[in-house]
Amino acid sequence: MIPVAMGGSQMADYNAAMLRTIPLSYRPGWQEQLADLLTDPLELLELLQLTPAATGYSLAALKDFPMRVTRAYAGRMRKGDARDPLLLQVLPLAAELQVVPGYVNDPLAESTTNPVPGLLHKYQGRVLLITTQNCAIHCRYCFRRHFPYADNRPSRAGWEQSLDYIASDTTIEEVILSGGDPLAISNSHLDYLLKRLAVIPHLRRIRLHTRLPLLLPDRIDPTLLSLLGELPQQVVMVIHANHAREFDSEVDLACQRLRACGVHLLNQSVLLAGINDSTDALIELSQRLFAAGVLPYYLHMLDKVNGAAHFDVPEPEALALIGAMQAGLPGYLVPKLVRELPHERHKIML
Ligand SMILES: *Cc1c(COP(=O)(O)O)cnc(C)c1O
Ligand code: SF4
Repeated sequence: MIPVAMGGSQMADYNAAMLRTIPLSYRPGWQEQLADLLTDPLELLELLQLTPAATGYSLAALKDFPMRVTRAYAGRMRKGDARDPLLLQVLPLAAELQVVPGYVNDPLAESTTNPVPGLLHKYQGRVLLITTQNCAIHCRYCFRRHFPYADNRPSRAGWEQSLDYIASDTTIEEVILSGGDPLAISNSHLDYLLKRLAVIPHLRRIRLHTRLPLLLPDRIDPTLLSLLGELPQQVVMVIHANHAREFDSEVDLACQRLRACGVHLLNQSVLLAGINDSTDALIELSQRLFAAGVLPYYLHMLDKVNGAAHFDVPEPEALALIGAMQAGLPGYLVPKLVRELPHERHKIML
């Protein structure tokens, strides 16, 4: 959303700086946009007319987990608002340096559920394939912020082992492409992977967990749409929106195109203090999701990862928020409140 207070010419300057569209008629392709992420917090803060001191920005937190965000997403942040819910998802803050008991580096103990590198088989019937370590954003609350991605680097050779594992276990019905962000890889890599999955007879569903429809709507290009549309399996895409303001008309269009190819759109959010921990924010998010053709799926309790304790919302408060959503929304717009625990056979519903 464009800040209400901005005038026309100011607004044009803002958009041009965010997208670096020079000349204005030229629109970079998604690959170029992905190569031109905002990684310097000082540049982002300057674009938003904020001072580091106003926000709690910390260089040490940046060194711990680098900043990353697309210019398209940053363009929806409000100028001059240090508490902007989109900004707070990406800006490294001093609060991340607090050491809080109970918070660890690998809260889901994922390093113990890796049957082959890059594959997690934790739940009945579903495997999670780490397609890439890359994301177009670094979410400050990410439970994988300390994950040993270097050992899970994708390569076609690495995928072979995972594909063999999936093909040989007929109890697997669903492959979940995750990461990192599976849509951060090229269409030709994705084409290769999807064509290999397409011919595994026991697979019923292919699911992608991705933030790219929100971060880089241009990623939903005609080639991707035909790859997904041609799959013999049902395709589910779970986008990860945490706040209604992550949507704009471009995101709506990307969702529309996906739906037109038969992709089922779901959303999962993380309940985050200071970002979406109010009845109004959560109700507005559900309404906005449905307007875009997306059904709310999960509302996750924060994974207790080092550096994210300041985002935690206590369980009683979370339950009260869900209660308020139930009172104000049709049942299908109320997400399931869940917590993920290591060594459990499914997510725990609260
Ligand atoms: C969350 C998760 C899944 C999918 O669980 P659903 O409840 O089907 O969404 C699968 N594997 C792993 C490792 C997960 O963390
Ligand atoms: S998109 Fe997902 S994996 Fe990537 S940083 Fe955000 S939460 Fe983590």
